[in-house]
Amino acid sequence: MWLAYVVSEVIIMLILWGTLTGACWGSFLLCRAWRTTQTVSQPHRSYCSSCKRLIHFYDNIPVLSYLLLRGRCRHCAAAIDPRFWLGELCGAASGGLIMTAALWQSPVLLLFLFLLSFLAASDLYHYAFDDRWFWLGTILCLLIAVATQHPLHWWAAFAAAAILIFPVFWQKMGAGDLELITLATLIFGPYPILHWLLTASTLGLLITFLTHHQKKPIPFLPILYIAALVVITAYHW
Ligand SMILES: [Zn+2]
Repeated sequence: MWLAYVVSEVIIMLILWGTLTGACWGSFLLCRAWRTTQTVSQPHRSYCSSCKRLIHFYDNIPVLSYLLLRGRCRHCAAAIDPRFWLGELCGAASGGLIMTAALWQSPVLLLFLFLLSFLAASDLYHYAFDDRWFWLGTILCLLIAVATQHPLHWWAAFAAAAILIFPVFWQKMGAGDLELITLATLIFGPYPILHWLLTASTLGLLITFLTHHQKKPIPFLPILYIAALVVITAYHW
């Protein structure tokens, strides 16, 4: 009886630990991606993009600090980019999912999500990603798929690429989105991918509706990342 209690406590601790580590990872990843957009020299530690003052550690706690500061810098009260907070939330959700074994059960899925996190962070600020990262990730995903005897869905992947080439040709979609969706279809097969794209499209429409006053286009990969977390959660429970 006491053993079951200890095991459940340990599992809760692991999920908490995964959530915290994931939030830190999301914060770090988005911060790195954002820094690549800056041309001037930057301090090593986190700083406010408006007044350039360094951020104290207690104002730099993932997820919480943004809420406690109500999304504003403590010194100059400039609005903090809410995308950082979003990145921290996504990281926390990913870390939690890893620890609930939703992702450990499929090493390929874990690696794919890891690759997607890099590409989404880049897409968020540059509307593009470095193709070398994509191909490195693709090779690693396929190697792990073969090593773990994970089935690959070649015909579905060909079909996805053949369909998606049209929106790319008419410039309604980026070539990067096509590459990524084709890879995902190859690994996970048509049905999970249809659920994923449907979720992402719904989310995309919702965000377009909520941010219609903004002129900037909406990067699709971060939306795909959030949709992936939703679908993985739905499939796992
Ligand atoms: Zn400031």
